[in-house]
Amino acid sequence: MSDLIPYEILTKLVNEADDAAVENVREGRGGPFGASLNVINLDNHWVIRIGEVAGNAVLETGVGSAHAEDQALSPENIRALKATLKNRDPAHTAVIVASSGESCPACHAKLEILARLLVSEKLLRLGHFIIAYGASYADTKAVAGFNDEPYHADMLQPEHMRLIRVDTIARDRLPHALQEALLHHEAVIETPSGLYAGNDERTRHFTLIPEVTALRAACETNKAQGAPEPWNLQRATLYTTTAQIGPLAYAEAQWANIARWVKVGGAESFTPTEAPDISNNDLFAAVAARPYNHSHSALFVVRVSPFANRGQREWARLQAERPEHLKTYNGIAST
Ligand SMILES: [Zn+2]
Repeated sequence: MSDLIPYEILTKLVNEADDAAVENVREGRGGPFGASLNVINLDNHWVIRIGEVAGNAVLETGVGSAHAEDQALSPENIRALKATLKNRDPAHTAVIVASSGESCPACHAKLEILARLLVSEKLLRLGHFIIAYGASYADTKAVAGFNDEPYHADMLQPEHMRLIRVDTIARDRLPHALQEALLHHEAVIETPSGLYAGNDERTRHFTLIPEVTALRAACETNKAQGAPEPWNLQRATLYTTTAQIGPLAYAEAQWANIARWVKVGGAESFTPTEAPDISNNDLFAAVAARPYNHSHSALFVVRVSPFANRGQREWARLQAERPEHLKTYNGIAST
């Protein structure tokens, strides 16, 4: 697939994402990462950018997974993307997400789900969703100190060996307050400061599965209350009625420092999956598998090289100057 797109175009898009990363760091919105969402005409290689080049917004939003790719996939941008694709011939059209850094598992899951949604809605052909990135996990760790590798590796472990301990508990064995909360909600986070509940809100945005909605509610409340690290739920427990653990829910829980995942058994288990036409277990395996570009993924991933990585270098420079302003946060068990 990438043969159909000149390499210079991917390089240019990734470098623009890096420019946004530099600006993002200087503005203090979040980490040194930028990303853009684009549609390309495969005949003449014209590129249409969907929305602005986005930056990491973790510091601004208080949500640990508000990464550049996440911000590039905003509800407005997804609406604009679909409207743009509707007017095009899928045989001659591809989507390119350009990112200054290799996507973490949460962003990777969002991209995999989006690609599958577009294919299922017949807006895009399978194989026509390209991810181009600059800095690898190893580069990002060496230059800026962020290390996503363990979280990706964790997802390759069998369920009982993962960083987040997984239990199954029958609904009637839970404390009363949790039972009550789970009567009206599909996911509940139990933190030292209280319970935060979430439901399936995917009519608003494709990433708003119950677990994500609950995690966001907890982080946003922390942010509103002035917590120094609102994204860090300090080894909280997530209760969910979703029967199979999906990669998006799991990776988002990693970013929020969830230590325990409880599948709540019972007849009313929530059955919809994170992506169409695939079970959560199979989607989890597809997102975790490496190397990229295997037959179970709807994404085609390209690393562009050489890459200047100016955003991360700017982060390192500013962090040395004023460490109190910039926080390097790596999710679960990072405290
Ligand atoms: Zn990410």
